[in-house]
Amino acid sequence: MTITEEIQSIENAHESGVYAKRQVAIVRGEGARLWDAEGNEYIDCVGGQGAANLGHANPAVVAAITAQAQTLISCPELFYNDKRAALLEKLTALTGMPRAFLCNSGTEAVESALKFARLRTGRSEVVAAMRGFHGRTMGALSATWEKKYRGPFEPLVPGFKHIPYNDLAALQAAVSEQTAAVILEVVQGEGGVNPGTPEFLLGAQALCAKHGAMLILDEVQTGFGRTGEMFAFQHLGLKPDLLAVAKSMAGGLPMGAWLMSASFGELPSAVHGSTFGGNPLACAASIAAIDYLVDNQLAEHAAELGAWFKAALERVQSPLVREVRGMGLMVGIEIKQKVTPYLQALMTKGVMALPAGLTVMRFLPPLVISQAELAVVVEKVQEVLAKPIAAGSAGANE
Ligand code: PMP
Repeated sequence: MTITEEIQSIENAHESGVYAKRQVAIVRGEGARLWDAEGNEYIDCVGGQGAANLGHANPAVVAAITAQAQTLISCPELFYNDKRAALLEKLTALTGMPRAFLCNSGTEAVESALKFARLRTGRSEVVAAMRGFHGRTMGALSATWEKKYRGPFEPLVPGFKHIPYNDLAALQAAVSEQTAAVILEVVQGEGGVNPGTPEFLLGAQALCAKHGAMLILDEVQTGFGRTGEMFAFQHLGLKPDLLAVAKSMAGGLPMGAWLMSASFGELPSAVHGSTFGGNPLACAASIAAIDYLVDNQLAEHAAELGAWFKAALERVQSPLVREVRGMGLMVGIEIKQKVTPYLQALMTKGVMALPAGLTVMRFLPPLVISQAELAVVVEKVQEVLAKPIAAGSAGANE
């Protein structure tokens, strides 16, 4: 039995079963590279599904985690804490939103943003977008569109409506004096790498203002430099009432947050909480991650390199490609067939990438990736998309 087979047999015997996995065990990472248990090397365009913007084993993040682990790991928000204070100051300065609640994941950030939109407005209706993905807890799942995630758990939270993304007229028809919140991604990630148009996003903001509804922007996937600005809303100067972030916030450690605009105000005491929220270990990692992103201008790097990467992918010669879309280093190629066999073929050539829906190949590389590494990715994409793979011939089910 190989080391990989041994790891697989244990996971397969004891895990819940909800994940469809690729036949590989990843055991080490550095920058934009990953290694499997057999010693094979990969260029990583999965990027921890968006949690690895800083690169694997980022030395600044590793040093901060190590030092903080030796100092204090747990400290509930019953007490004040030095690292939490420093992070709150940094995060609010970075977003221009004066208050934040620190939590542990993307779905938790969205879930609580929805709660507080209801609390603030006294209303319970929420408008979300078709193809939107916001998480898998009951509130966040109610905002998520895809039937395969929602169906098994219905009935969900009442009062949610879904309108076509980028359809301002449909949004206009859906928002009313009963609307607590409109929740949107700035670029839809899981739904196929669909950038929001300025008209739609600015229109959503104006509609929320007109009807007294909260604009919740879900930047769980687009935040922390991914799209070429620190946050995607900054491309258009949007002013969300609530902002949900997570993924790369703490350099790969589990952490999320939701931020509130100045007009949102402070919340009443004791209405919300989290045992792990704002723990000093995640806060120290997040401070190091934010400093590293800013000091190394990784958002600017994502903008420049992303533009180069997208243009290079547009030059790929293939009968399969419908469209190349994206912003910064969040790029998708929509193809005319199911994408899984092509992702599998890409992996055998040493490149890891993600699906987004059934037909989109998605690239979320660590923002520290080099142009030379991305040039290899383009070359391998060209090889796998050169001709159609016969149906049923390959592919893990993702
Ligand atoms: N919102 C968006 C936009 C996401 O992409 C995701 C995760 N893919 C989530 C929310 C949920 O985040 P988590 O998996 O950390 O709960």
